[in-house]
Amino acid sequence: MHPLIQQLVSRGPIITDGAWGTELQARGLGLGDFPDTWNLTHAERVGEVARSYAEAGSQVILTNTFGANRIRLAEQGAADRLGEINQRGVEISLKAANGRARVFASIGPTGKLLMSGEVTEEDLRAAFGEQARALAQARPDGLVVETMSDLEEAKLAVSAARETGLPVVACMVFDSGRDKDRTMMGTTPEQAAQALTEAGADVIGANCGQGIAGFIAICRRLRAATDRPVWIKANAGLPTMVDGRPKYTTTPEQFASYIPELIQDGASFVGGCCGTRPDFIGAIRRCLRPD
Ligand SMILES: [Zn+2]
Repeated sequence: MHPLIQQLVSRGPIITDGAWGTELQARGLGLGDFPDTWNLTHAERVGEVARSYAEAGSQVILTNTFGANRIRLAEQGAADRLGEINQRGVEISLKAANGRARVFASIGPTGKLLMSGEVTEEDLRAAFGEQARALAQARPDGLVVETMSDLEEAKLAVSAARETGLPVVACMVFDSGRDKDRTMMGTTPEQAAQALTEAGADVIGANCGQGIAGFIAICRRLRAATDRPVWIKANAGLPTMVDGRPKYTTTPEQFASYIPELIQDGASFVGGCCGTRPDFIGAIRRCLRPD
């Protein structure tokens, strides 16, 4: 196991952060606008999100770099600022954490499908390698390959991320199939855990996709299929659209009430995805470390 991961998990469950997209939207990012360029244009507001998580009790916070790979940046006409966007993203989170939290830099999917031939494995390897190297230059504590639906894409991202020498978390979205326990492509938690462990990920997880109740069984199944620590970041339920904006109905207390069971079932890192806010992290902290 990577020494930093060993050190973190040896002290008991680690609280990660909550959503970034919905928090940036609350600070003026338009619905459907691309968040990552805000690292250059609205660094103050991005820093507020990071700081609010560190203050609420997150011990690991991520970065606003989820979509900052060449393929997605090119669609935004921002490919020439790739290095800056990734590095600023890490710097903003490091400054906001101010030593209170570790910073793991986010790497999301490219949005292109290998299966349909829109991109080749080589394209993906190059895109993830470039982003991982740009992030690593700003010295984050780790990298998180997240919100992946395609196991092949996730494996390519993990091996590119590993070349930096940083610890790598790999997590996928399980929200499809009759029991909502498969990725969009039909991959089970067992298949994902085994393949991502073989690809060299230091931590294996699930994020986004569905409400926290559905993550209990997924956590157990990931735990049983790998010897790596497990990372769980659930959504605050499934949103309903109110006045053209997604509204999440799970409360921080409801969300936190599932945390003890997740920990008992083997999660080492717990936090939230879409719709979760700093008060969700505060509720998790009170639940794990009542003081
Ligand atoms: Zn999400």
